[in-house]
Amino acid sequence: MSNPAKSTFFSGLQQNLETLRGQGLYKPERVLASRQGAEVVGADGRHLINMCANNYLGLSGDPQTQQAATEALEKYGYGLSSVRFICGTQTVHKELEQAISTFLGMEDTILYAAAFDANGGLFEPLFDENDAIISDALNHASIIDGIRLCKAARYRYRNNDMADLEVQLQAARAAGKRHTVIATDGAFSMDGTIARLDEICDLADKYGALVMIDESHASGFMGATGRGTHEHHNVMGRIDIITGTLGKALGGAMGGFTSARKEVIDTLRQKSRPYLFSNTLAPMIAGASLSVLKRISGSTELRDRLHQNTIYFRGEIERIGFTIKPGTHPVVPVMLFDAPVAQQFAARMYELGVLLSGFFYPVVPMGQARVRVQLSAAHTREQLDSVLKAFEQAGRELGILKTERQN
Ligand SMILES: *Cc1c(COP(=O)(O)O)cnc(C)c1O
Repeated sequence: MSNPAKSTFFSGLQQNLETLRGQGLYKPERVLASRQGAEVVGADGRHLINMCANNYLGLSGDPQTQQAATEALEKYGYGLSSVRFICGTQTVHKELEQAISTFLGMEDTILYAAAFDANGGLFEPLFDENDAIISDALNHASIIDGIRLCKAARYRYRNNDMADLEVQLQAARAAGKRHTVIATDGAFSMDGTIARLDEICDLADKYGALVMIDESHASGFMGATGRGTHEHHNVMGRIDIITGTLGKALGGAMGGFTSARKEVIDTLRQKSRPYLFSNTLAPMIAGASLSVLKRISGSTELRDRLHQNTIYFRGEIERIGFTIKPGTHPVVPVMLFDAPVAQQFAARMYELGVLLSGFFYPVVPMGQARVRVQLSAAHTREQLDSVLKAFEQAGRELGILKTERQN
């Protein structure tokens, strides 16, 4: 039987995909044939220095992490086939929650299958239509979605703009809202900027607001001992809610968490939908994450190596003649401004053996196209020098080095 409505559904999707392709916005997947690491092998057999993973501490693909996962797999088995509260909680999950709390300097922690779930299930159980959520304009999609699922009044402030944040706090106060929470990424992954948490905490105190930060691009390596941006800004003890991922610096497999006071975490255990209605984090991931936290609590070696690599790369790339967004974060946006140039540049770097990603409108503002470099503790000085050499060559070929423009 013919079904014309069905046909138009599928042909509509095809047309939309063609439009994306035509606009250069279609995202193909890069296929790797190797494990994750500072050097990877593409499905085409090409060896590439990887400069676009969130593998900040080099623990994805790391043998010690893998060993810990193997031991947990042996001891606890492959999976639980249960949500946490029915029969899906093992000692390793409780140990990991305790270890994350201690590491972050928070009272209690709840695990999720992903940070996306931690943010998605955070706001709705804690806030309602009597409350206000004030959100940074560049917050991660999962924070935006979590806020959408909640009935609280929504306010938005310009990225890291404290004057605008204060205007929004005043607006929430004028609206007579009961509780107000400020929500921000601790570190913004497109620009490598760090939220001004000291000023945010001062404003929160002035207006009686709570502060929530998402530390997905910070936990494990920002701050003197890697606790995160709250340590970096010396506001440990002043942040009310921290969410984060186990899928970036802290091992790189998957998993997320929320840390806060006991009554907050208890409420989430009772009411947070992605926790109540989704399966337990696999025990091997919990075991490996636990070993990662032990390792980085005992030594800042990986964190220090990452920051040395970051300082070296940021200094050298500017010396060659590229423009970067200034900062201290291992995300280094190398600004190329023009979208087609950024695309050509990333493609040329691939040919030169460097894996990078280009970003352009609408992911970043118009005229702000870039390639984003992400440093890792696993990068050797030799690898970074090869990458810098490739940058210089591709930059010269495309005529985009500052030193050359002056000639
Ligand atoms: C990556 C990221 C997430 C999602 O983390 P997953 O654990 O992969 O779901 C959430 N928030 C921020 C800020 C992120 O960068």
